Amino acid sequence: MSATRTPGNDKAIVKDYFNTTGFDRWRRIYGDGDVNKVQRDIRDGHQRTVDTVVYWLKQASKGDLTGQTICDAGCGVGSLSVPLAELGATVAGSDISEAMIGEANDRAAKLHLGDRLSFEVKDLEAIDGSYDTVICLDVLIHYPDSDIEKMIGHLASRAQSKLILSFAPKSGIYVLLKKIGELFPGPSKTTRAYLHPVRDIIAILRANGFEVNRREFIGSQFYFSQILEAVRSEEA
Ligand code: SAH
Repeated sequence: MSATRTPGNDKAIVKDYFNTTGFDRWRRIYGDGDVNKVQRDIRDGHQRTVDTVVYWLKQASKGDLTGQTICDAGCGVGSLSVPLAELGATVAGSDISEAMIGEANDRAAKLHLGDRLSFEVKDLEAIDGSYDTVICLDVLIHYPDSDIEKMIGHLASRAQSKLILSFAPKSGIYVLLKKIGELFPGPSKTTRAYLHPVRDIIAILRANGFEVNRREFIGSQFYFSQILEAVRSEEA
């Protein structure tokens, strides 16, 4: 049975979506098979987000991530976890969707990266353990404003030195584009999309002892993502 929308149950709806329609849609977009023009645009935009994060981490450690522990929270099918493990990091990917983790495990099985790459079904707010770096890409779009403080606070508590987030920024033009998008009904519009002001996210990071030291905006016709890298500040 699918979850119905009542106030406060976004998470159940999101989980349901990423186990069904969302899984089919995103597996295709994050894969390498044929896609339509819109999906191609989103695939390319998302790939730029992944590439940017990989580049930042590579740059910070001269291309070799051996010995670093990374948590990929809301990892989807492992689009980021895989390249990071291939660079030597020990990556723990987790996601609330069984279907996404199933696909991530299928992909990992072909790569023979051993213990360096593991995937687990988990709500990111229940992640335990601690990691050098915690990364959470394109998940905040599923979180309403009222829930992001707790969510980011939890991720921050798991990160020893770095926290990298990407999200759809809330600014005039994107609010307008989102409104236009909502005028067109379609089967893919089954979850709500939440945009967040960049300054709000920065303030939450700061309240948790993290300062933003790198940022990049990735924008194409149908894909928008603000990436922030924050590091634990000395006095925190
Ligand atoms: N980070 C991945 C996937 C982004 S799609 C990437 O960039 O490739 C968003 C993912 O967030 C979906 O797989 C969805 O199942 C997951 N998600 C949403 N809410 C979550 C939560 N509370 N805990 C863990 N995963 C969550």
